[in-house]
Amino acid sequence: MSTPASSSRIAGFHKLPIAERVEAVARFAGLEPGECAHLLDTGNLPAELADHLIENVVGTMNIPVGIATNMRIDGEDRLIPMATEESSVVAAVCNAARQCYDAGGFVTSMSGTLMIAQIQLTGVSDPQLARLRILERKAEVQASCDACDPVLLQLGGGFRDLEVRVLETRGGTMVITHIVVDTRDAMGANAVNTMAEKLAPQIAGWTGGRTNLRILSNLADRRLARARCVWPLAAIGGEAVRDGMLSAYHFADADPYRAATHNKGIMNGISAVVLATGNDTRAVEAGAHAYAARNGRYASLTHWEVTAEGDLAGSIELPMAVGLVGGATKLHPTAKIALKVLGVRSAEALARTIAAVGLAQNFSAMKALATTGIQKGHMALHAQNIAMMAGALGEEIERVARVLVAKGTVRIDVAEAELKALRAG
Ligand code: NAD
Repeated sequence: MSTPASSSRIAGFHKLPIAERVEAVARFAGLEPGECAHLLDTGNLPAELADHLIENVVGTMNIPVGIATNMRIDGEDRLIPMATEESSVVAAVCNAARQCYDAGGFVTSMSGTLMIAQIQLTGVSDPQLARLRILERKAEVQASCDACDPVLLQLGGGFRDLEVRVLETRGGTMVITHIVVDTRDAMGANAVNTMAEKLAPQIAGWTGGRTNLRILSNLADRRLARARCVWPLAAIGGEAVRDGMLSAYHFADADPYRAATHNKGIMNGISAVVLATGNDTRAVEAGAHAYAARNGRYASLTHWEVTAEGDLAGSIELPMAVGLVGGATKLHPTAKIALKVLGVRSAEALARTIAAVGLAQNFSAMKALATTGIQKGHMALHAQNIAMMAGALGEEIERVARVLVAKGTVRIDVAEAELKALRAG
């Protein structure tokens, strides 16, 4: 019996070759042959590799990769590959970096490359005793963790610390063990998850409790990347601009509604580099937002101050769990090239660079918002997108976009009318 085309129950879908999966989806969704061919064209990511990265692959999603110029980080010039679908993100970094280049650019640092894995223990009648029982076994815990990953150990990584917390929850008291592991040039999720899974039965045995979850924490607050930079007053356009930007920061730091958007702008830059290098954008985003709320109220990831000389000083600090090995970093051909362009030789250097990009992004977003507004900068590229949506092709795109910007009405209906007029001659 064949599967009805309206059913999402497609038995064995995961076992099908990609072309047959596309056929099944085409039957379900009524895809045209051209649309199927489009899906099957996986561009510069080989279909076979895509099929190994995730499950049920039917295609790939191309996102533009742009290069941010003008970045000077710790005394070295860097070109920054950024993968994003959003206009103005790359330009924002270029602009911010240009305005601080002559003053020396960005200075970065890192707290270390430590990741935390958590083991949840429930059903312990004496949680404080259990806590100490676990802490007493630190040497055993270390041996158990380090035995999981001889490669990591050889590279100077491995177990670093053991922490145990007693947590009151709606479901009763829990004993939460943290293993702190140096994962060197790996993001480390798989590495620490393996350790946590191995350790869990031992913890249950030492305490008489029941272990449940065994998984890393994305609040990687032992892996903080930091960047700072001073923008000279003259380079940014004077006191009125500086004070407008400071006021924007004060607003963001005081109000979660504003902070969410402020930090989203920062993540525009950060996620674009994380993605371009084949790293896990969600892991970095989760860490960033959790860190922004660590004091009980969601606030700005950046800080802005005025120096004694009257210049504008920006700083950022956030968890940055990225790697040069592991996940898709070493597999995705574009990610490999992006890392080569960046020229970073350690996960730490990558993390620090990404923090600098986040700070640059925030500078530009605040400056645009506090002066001309964000739309002016957005409009040229946005107008091109709107022109394409209206059906403009080739040279028409630029011509229609120019008219939309000149008219100050970047709308699809106006674009359609302009395109019609253009084609009518
Ligand atoms: P991985 O397990 O693929 O690679 C890490 C391993 O590579 C290390 O354990 C080590 O044995 C080896 N290695 C070789 N050279 C190394 C070096 N120079 N430095 C460090 N290790 C080296 O990857 P991973 O980094 O453990 O895990 C990353 C992946 O886990 C990502 O794809 C991520 O999306 C995924 N993941 C994330 C989460 C989460 O964030 N919550 C959860 C599960 C999985």
